[in-house]
This record gives sequence, C-alpha cells and structure tokens, in this order.
Amino acid sequence: MQPCDKTQTGFFSSLRLASGWESAASRGNWYEIDLDAIRHNYRQLRAHLHGTVKIFACLKRNGYGCGAGPVARALATEGADGFAVAALADAIAIRETGVDLPLLLYPGALPTAADTIQSLGLTVTVSSVDELDRWRAVMNRSRIFIKADLGFFRAGATPGETGQLLATAHACSDVEVQGLYAHLSELPTSTPSSTIEQFARLQRILKEAEASGTRPPVIMMSSTEGVLQYPEMDLNAVDPGALFVGFAEAVRPVRHVTLRPALKAISTSLVSIKQIDASLGPIPEMAGFRSGMTIGVLGMGWGDGFPRHVPARAEALVRGQRARLLPPAHLEHLRIDLTDIPDARFGDQVLLLGQQGDQKITHEQVAAQWGTDVVGLYGQLRDHIARVYV
Ligand SMILES: *Cc1c(COP(=O)(O)O)cnc(C)c1O
Repeated sequence: MQPCDKTQTGFFSSLRLASGWESAASRGNWYEIDLDAIRHNYRQLRAHLHGTVKIFACLKRNGYGCGAGPVARALATEGADGFAVAALADAIAIRETGVDLPLLLYPGALPTAADTIQSLGLTVTVSSVDELDRWRAVMNRSRIFIKADLGFFRAGATPGETGQLLATAHACSDVEVQGLYAHLSELPTSTPSSTIEQFARLQRILKEAEASGTRPPVIMMSSTEGVLQYPEMDLNAVDPGALFVGFAEAVRPVRHVTLRPALKAISTSLVSIKQIDASLGPIPEMAGFRSGMTIGVLGMGWGDGFPRHVPARAEALVRGQRARLLPPAHLEHLRIDLTDIPDARFGDQVLLLGQQGDQKITHEQVAAQWGTDVVGLYGQLRDHIARVYV
C-alpha cells in the first residue's frame, strides 16, 4: 500500500471554482454544472424566436437543481428578459446574485411573505379576485401576473372568469397588471385537438380583454414543449425551463434545437475501503456480496438524492473503470465493489454520472436506474450538495 496519495490534486486545481468549493472539498460530494451549456441552450432557443418575444426563463426547483442564482446570472448575461420560480427561496437566490430583471412567482408564495416580496420587487401570480384582495391588503403596490387555466385543472382562473378578474385588477390603482399567462395542459383528454382548443380559449380571453381595454402588456403560455412544437403560441413571451438545462420533451418539434446537458457529473468520493476477511463473520446474503471481495464506501447516500433502494445494475466510475454499487443504500453512504479495481484509494473521486477516461454513465442510464426521466433526475438533485461550475 502507498504511504500517501496525491492523485486528486491535479483534478481539484483544474476546476474553475465557485463558492460551493469549500463544502465540496470538505465532504467530497458535488454536482458539476456546465454554465456554457446553459448559455448555449438559451442561444439555441433565442435564434428561433422573433426579436419581440420575451424569454422569462423558468428556474423553479432551484433552477432544476443547477442553482437558480448562478443560472439566472448566466442567462441574464445572454439577454434573458425575466425569470419565473415557484419558491421564494429561489427568488431570493436570484436577487442575491444581483440580477434585478422582472421576476415572476408562480403560485407558491403567500401574503405572509409580502414584505420580502415587496423588498425584492417580485411579481406575484393571481388566479382569483379573492387572491387579489388578499395581496392588496398587505402590499402598498401589487405587481401581478394573472394566471388563466385553459384546461389543466390546476392554478389559474377559468376561461369563464378570467375576463372579470382582468377587469377587477385593472380598476385598482394600487395594482400593476404586468402580464397574463397560462400553462399548456399535459393531461390526457378525449379530443386530440385539445392543445389547439386551449390556445383558442386564450385567444377568446385576449379578444375580450382587447375590447375592454384590459389586455396586459405580457402574454405567455409556452414552456419547453410548447415553444418547440407550436410557434404560433409564442404570443409576446415564453417561459420554458427544462430546455435551459438541456432537456426537450416535444413529441413532434417543428423547431429543432441541439441542446447540451447542464449537469456534467454527480461526483462523490471513496471515504473508506477494506478487503473482506473471515473475521467479519458470515457474508451477507445479498446480491454482490462474496468472501474475499474489496468493498468501498461512498460518502453519498439516499439522503443525498440517490434512490432509497440501490437499483439493480447501478454502477459508478472509479479510476476510469465501472464498478457495481451494492445494496442496501444508507442515508449518507453507499457500498461499491472494488474487487476488480485494486488501485482504488481512500479519497478517490467517484462518478455516479459523467465521464472518466473512456467510460461514461449517461443521464438516460441514471434516470432509468433511478426510476425517473431526465427532468426527474434534475429534480432529484439536492440543494445541500455543492455545485461546482465548470
Ligand atoms: C414548470 C413550468 C414551466 C416550465 O416548464 P418546462 O417544461 O420545464 O419548460 C413554465 N410555466 C409554468 C407555469 C410551469 O409550472
């Protein structure tokens, strides 16, 4: 055995380090996020849109796990017109990076947070006259987007009530109606033309608003799927999210984009290694355990976003080789079979996703093993794990 190990030094110093660096180094877990990929994805979309169409980048769930603040700053530099999030924490993270572009809160914030919302200059979503009254009661001046539900059965005024809500808000001198938005339904319905019908509902609302002089300046309804599949639905703003981290789910895209994944690596470390000997007693009767094997322990567990149960065939990369993860998963630890990687050492970097040498574990492989899809994988990223921007 070597007396000491210097193998990681070159890797660490080669990273362009972000503020998450100290915690990354102290526990040895981090996500590698490629901000150039996010900027590239933004430009791919921008190139398809008319110059007058605004982009409100949806950065909910901490920017799809990639860090709402740094992602917003990167997109602001590219020319994004505004942002949208559901959680106040994400809005705070964006403002803390110095980005002061329009920032819309999707349904999620409550009037109890009015002071923070006003001091950060945020725009709230209003879906009913009752919500409007509640916000007005606690804000000096309410900046709002009205949300219409075109058939999603979620938040938003029904098409039948939206006109009245627009008129009521419009008549309040302390309310600034900045926009009207909707989100395409993903629910199955019996009529295949339902997307067209949803758009028609919005157009009827707009026609009515036009006639009564209550049409707000910003109108948007397209997220990733809509913007790639239905260019006629651009209106004058769009709010895709998944697209920026590199994922497009349009079934029949008419706009073709080449996206790059923002998440380059899920990285952890070997925090312990041992060779199994007879003094440990009987070998556990679980898949992958055998006498004489070498077991490594990773400093990442199901409390860090890894699935509660180790998926069959789950692997990780150690020293450029694939090694099998062994059940069970623990809150903060996982086991890995290092029998065929005798030069693995305490402190080695281990990738659950990413590329080492010529070996690669892809987003699709990890998503399938974790029982989700690629967007779901981004949703599994945990905020307490450091993000290193490369
Ligand atoms: C999630 C969401 C988006 C973005 O959706 P993507 O599919 O990630 O592009 C846009 N608007 C609303 C209201 C959302 O909830």
